[in-house]
Amino acid sequence: MDVTGKVVLISGAARGMGAHEARRFAGAGARVILGDVLLEEAETLAAEIGADRALAVRLDVARAEDWDRAVTAGLDRFGRIDVLVNNAGILRFSDIEHCSDAEWDQVLSINLGGGFRGIRAVIPAMKQNGGGSIINISSTAGLKGFGGVAAYIASKFGVRGLTKAAAIELADHGIRVNSVHPGNVDTEMVDGLYPDFNHVPMKRMAQPDEIASLVIFLASEASSFSTGAEFVADGGETGGMPDLFADGR
Ligand code: NAD
Repeated sequence: MDVTGKVVLISGAARGMGAHEARRFAGAGARVILGDVLLEEAETLAAEIGADRALAVRLDVARAEDWDRAVTAGLDRFGRIDVLVNNAGILRFSDIEHCSDAEWDQVLSINLGGGFRGIRAVIPAMKQNGGGSIINISSTAGLKGFGGVAAYIASKFGVRGLTKAAAIELADHGIRVNSVHPGNVDTEMVDGLYPDFNHVPMKRMAQPDEIASLVIFLASEASSFSTGAEFVADGGETGGMPDLFADGR
């Protein structure tokens, strides 16, 4: 799980899982480029980590020019990019009948289009390094359906497909691409959303650090033969229906 000296670009790094991943990478000897629309928060985190280890950049993942600027700023500061974590995402609630075009387009453009633009933007730098690791944060919502969040589900299934296509295209260049599928994780995105965790065999949420561990594994050479693959951390949520036969039938 050695990531010493690696340069890691993380989208949505100002808070939540992205911020935890940034702290963990920096603590393990990596340098981090923190991209977010929340520039002030990203700058505060970069200052906490230290200017020698962290750079904050304004990045709206829906905008190709922001990606180009983030990559250029990262290369100017650290000279290379070894790892991309496509983490930025939004969750919006609408059933299909009431979902506007604007909402659909926004969710798809950030959650799925953001990952696409990010991969496209880092390919030249990673090719120049002779390799890299791209980690796309999907969800259990990329593995099964939930009602009332159709755009989110479609975007996260899309991230899973994009991962497989990119893995095939980039394997010859030593660039690995994998998707991570967290279950319920304790961040602001889902604050107060779940009345209980009876749908999860482990009966709890994950802490963001438990997902960061998986991301660091995928960034490191410890996962050197894994690409185009799905890595699930969901407390057993997608493993089956908890307690379906609990009454003894
Ligand atoms: P969060 O809302 O706490 O953090 C998301 C970060 O992304 C924020 O810093 C936000 O400013 C940033 N962001 C939003 N739109 C952006 C944009 N257009 N460009 C750049 N940055 C943008 O959410 P989180 O829970 O940390 O989620 C991180 C990722 O994990 C998301 O992709 C989310 O879909 C996924 N995920 C979350 C959970 C969960 O239960 N929290 C479960 C599965 C997957």
